[in-house]
Amino acid sequence: MKFFVESFGCQMNSADTEEMGRHLAARGFAATADRDAADWVLVNTCTVRQHAEQKALSYLGRLRDWKDAKPGRRLVVAGCAAERLQDSLRRRFPHVDLVVGAISIGRFPELADGLLPAGEFDARGEAADAWSPENDYTAYTRGFPVGHVTIMRGCNYSCAYCIVPRVRGREIYRPAESVLAEVGQKAAAGCSEILLLGQTVNSYRPADGPIQDFADLLRAVDKVPGVRRLRFMSPHPFYVNERFAAAVAESPNVCPHMHLPVQSGSTPVLRRMRRNYSRADFLARAALLRRFVPGIALTTDIIVGFPGETDDDFKDTLSLIDEADLDGAYSFKYSPRPGTDAAEGPDDVPREKKEERLAVLLESLERRAQEKTARLIGTAQEVLVESAGVENGVWTADGRTRRFWKVRLSSKTPLKIGDTVNVKIQEAPARVLKGEAHAA
Ligand code: SF4
Repeated sequence: MKFFVESFGCQMNSADTEEMGRHLAARGFAATADRDAADWVLVNTCTVRQHAEQKALSYLGRLRDWKDAKPGRRLVVAGCAAERLQDSLRRRFPHVDLVVGAISIGRFPELADGLLPAGEFDARGEAADAWSPENDYTAYTRGFPVGHVTIMRGCNYSCAYCIVPRVRGREIYRPAESVLAEVGQKAAAGCSEILLLGQTVNSYRPADGPIQDFADLLRAVDKVPGVRRLRFMSPHPFYVNERFAAAVAESPNVCPHMHLPVQSGSTPVLRRMRRNYSRADFLARAALLRRFVPGIALTTDIIVGFPGETDDDFKDTLSLIDEADLDGAYSFKYSPRPGTDAAEGPDDVPREKKEERLAVLLESLERRAQEKTARLIGTAQEVLVESAGVENGVWTADGRTRRFWKVRLSSKTPLKIGDTVNVKIQEAPARVLKGEAHAA
C-alpha cells in the first residue's frame, strides 16, 4: 500500500503531516511522490486565510477523478479547514472517506485503522502514546535537511482575527523527553537544523520534570549531538524576557534570527487585536533581544487594514519597522475569517485602501532588504544547502544563512542537500543573495 500527501499551510501543518505519515508507515504503507500510484491520498488543509482554504478545497474537488479511477482508494482530509468545516466538507465532497480535524490529530491512528481492511496490518508495534520517546520519528519526514519538531499544540490566546484557537484548541505541551528523543533521531538521520514548532512556541511550560519552560528546553535541545542549527517558530512577543533572551544568547547553535510576529505598530490596533502587548512593549523586547544577541535578524508578520485602522495607525506600523530595525515581514491584507471575533464587526477599511497600504509597506520592506543585503557583499556566509543541482554545466545550490537570508550559490565541486558550505557573497539583489562556495 502506498500513500501520497499534499500539505497546505504552515510548518505546524507540515509537522502534523509527518505525524500522520509516520502512523501510516507503521501500518505498512510506503510514501510515494506519484499520486496515481497511491492507494491513499492525505490532504492536510489550512484555513488561516480564505485563499489558503480555497486552494485546499479546490484541490479536493480535483481528486474526484483520482478516487473514481480505482476501487479501494481512500481519501483522507485533515487539518484546520477540516476542523472548521467538518460535516459540510463531507457533504460538499462525498468522495472523502475520512475527516480528521486539527484537534483530532492524536486520534489519527484509531481513525485510520477504521478504514483499513480488518486484520490486514499489525500495528501492535506502534507505541500507544503519540508522543512516546520510543516512537520512530524518522519513519516519514518532510523538509530535510531541516527537522521539524512539534513541541506543543493549540493556543491560549484569542487574537480577534485568528481562527487557530478555534480549530486547534488550547495549549497542550509535549513532554520534554519526547521532544529530545525526536530531535536526537532527526539529527542522527542528518537533519543538522532543527525547527521547534508551536503556535506560541515560547509559552511552552510542561507540567513537571527538570525542563520547566521554553528557555530550559532550548538549552537542552542545543546540546543534542548532531544539532548544528536551531530555530523556533513562532515566538510570541509577550514571552520575550531576559530568561528567554539569555537562553537564545547562550545556546551556540541557536541561529541569530527570530521571526517575531508584531501584526501592527499601533497600540490601539494591537489592543483591538488582543495581542497582549503595546507598540512600546514590542520595541522594548526587540531591543532586549538585540542587547543579548547583537546583530540578531528580526522578521515579523504584519496585517494591514485591520478594522478601524487609520492612516496614522498605518504610519505607526511603517515607523515601527524602522525603529525595531526589522529585516523583513510577511504582510497580508486583513480579511475576516468566519468564526473569529473580528469577523462579527465591520470590515471597514476599503479594499483599495488595504491594497494601497500593502503596496507602500512592501515597497518599504523591499528598500530595507536592499540596504541590508548590500552590506553583505564581500562577506563570507555559512549556508546550509536545501536544494542542489546543475545549471549550464555548473554546480548550483540554494540554501539559507544563519540569519535566514536565502542564498543561490555556485560551486566548483558537487554539493548535496544537507551540506554546510562557506559562501563568498558577490551580489545582493534584494531577498536572494548570490555567491560562490569556497573551502571552509
Ligand atoms: S497567538 Fe494569536 S495569532 Fe497566534 S495562533 Fe494564537 S490566536 Fe492566532
